[in-house]
Amino acid sequence: MNIAQRISIDPAAKNYVSKPRKLLIDGAWVNAQSGKTFPVYDPSTGEVLAHVAEADAADVDKAVKAARKAFDEGPWPRMSPSERGRHIWKLADLIEKHAEEFATLESLDNGKPLTVARVADVPLTVDMFRYMAGWATKITGTTIPISFPGEYLSFTLREPVGVVGQIIPWNFPLLMAAWKLAPALATGCTIVLKVAEQTPLSGLRLGELVAEAGIPNGVVNVLAGYGETAGAALAAHHGVDKVAFTGSTEVGKLIVQAAAGNLKKVTLELGGKSPVVVLDDADVDAAIPGAAGAIFFNHGQCCCAGSRLMIHKKIFDKVVAGVAKEAESIKLGPGLDPDTQMGPLVSDEQFQRVTGYIRSGIAEGAEVVVGGKKGSDNGGYFVQPTVLTKTNSDMKVVREEIFGPVVCATPITDADLEDIARQANATNYGLAASVWTRDISKANKLAKRIRAGTVWINCHNVFDASLPFGGYKESGWGREMGEFVLNNYTEVKAVTTAL
Ligand code: ADP
Repeated sequence: MNIAQRISIDPAAKNYVSKPRKLLIDGAWVNAQSGKTFPVYDPSTGEVLAHVAEADAADVDKAVKAARKAFDEGPWPRMSPSERGRHIWKLADLIEKHAEEFATLESLDNGKPLTVARVADVPLTVDMFRYMAGWATKITGTTIPISFPGEYLSFTLREPVGVVGQIIPWNFPLLMAAWKLAPALATGCTIVLKVAEQTPLSGLRLGELVAEAGIPNGVVNVLAGYGETAGAALAAHHGVDKVAFTGSTEVGKLIVQAAAGNLKKVTLELGGKSPVVVLDDADVDAAIPGAAGAIFFNHGQCCCAGSRLMIHKKIFDKVVAGVAKEAESIKLGPGLDPDTQMGPLVSDEQFQRVTGYIRSGIAEGAEVVVGGKKGSDNGGYFVQPTVLTKTNSDMKVVREEIFGPVVCATPITDADLEDIARQANATNYGLAASVWTRDISKANKLAKRIRAGTVWINCHNVFDASLPFGGYKESGWGREMGEFVLNNYTEVKAVTTAL
């Protein structure tokens, strides 16, 4: 069977990309006020896939005013929590109903294999909304005994933070929308979501289901547009009470500056350079595919990608050879091809960035064990899964986030856990890590010593709506998911009554 015979495209997704897409503001689908649109590319061919309205500061202002009105005067924050929860659950049901369309849009727009979008992006999105639907009825304060002279009753209220600006990246477009929207909805906030310019389709399609789920107009506004224009305007807007951002550490710092104008609350989920530590007593048969999956899942375009592979010197050659073999066996191709195991990178910019890092690693003395080259000549943004050795901590490939399928393997020369933890922590980032060993004590000692928001033991990339996710150091502020994310979207009010 040739590629054309293997690929069949979901008709609803095909229909969706065939028409120019608009912005969702106050429950209506509208063109940008400038009338501008921008092209969205198919990363597997480099050809234009769709056209989308291009929001700028004027559209951001209109959307923020709609969200402001919905928050200050509308039913959403005033609705009973159980009713709010039911609408969020309904939204989850609707996404599930259109699962194949969403998986296809995600694959077309981002390049990821459809087979992966079906089992990861879409079900995790549905779970996130369902999990947060449950929290809507469980956001409580506490009663606090106070020592002030006299008799008082003191308690706390948890109230929605208000209008939230949310800016998301392109690596998991639908899931990132869910991580942001679900807790904001559960807490009773109203939202202006700006999707990434590389991958706006699934977020806009999700916007169409919001009204069907019975969520009132103006509660969820969805804008597509560029970061420097729409994103920057949203982060700076004085009508926004809080901004939640996921993306690069570089842009995260700009968000903090933009938010300073009205001191809006800020949470950031940023980059990483996550270590994968393989000790000499690890189950190598599990660690090899584990380490390969840690870096190659989603083409390395994960903030928690295991991009620094630290292997005990005794098993270094064996593990590197195993990971290289895994890399070589990965079948590159367009996301919609059911045989594809790894798709293209998301954009030409990302392709240039990742191949630039590989060249810089080689120039600085790294050795390419496998990969290192462009993955196809058809105009798509394919990069071969790449394993580098002979790297050191001065090299850019080891210090900086590549956000592509490139792993730097180094031997751990000292078996002392303190020293291993020091090497794992030798980064400005602190998002995630994994530790591979059969020794439960060593594993947990390392888990305590590694300064990262997530530590996986004998696994990597295990996510659940109930687990908090976020970074130490320059990997961010605050946590996504779990009960903890509710703190990002609520203010605490202390109420005291003299009795
Ligand atoms: P990446 O490097 O992974 O593309 P970015 O941090 O550039 O990640 O982008 C993540 C999101 O941030 C996107 O939605 C993008 O449009 C937005 N963005 C980029 N620059 C800015 C900015 N200066 N202000 C606000 N948002 C921005």
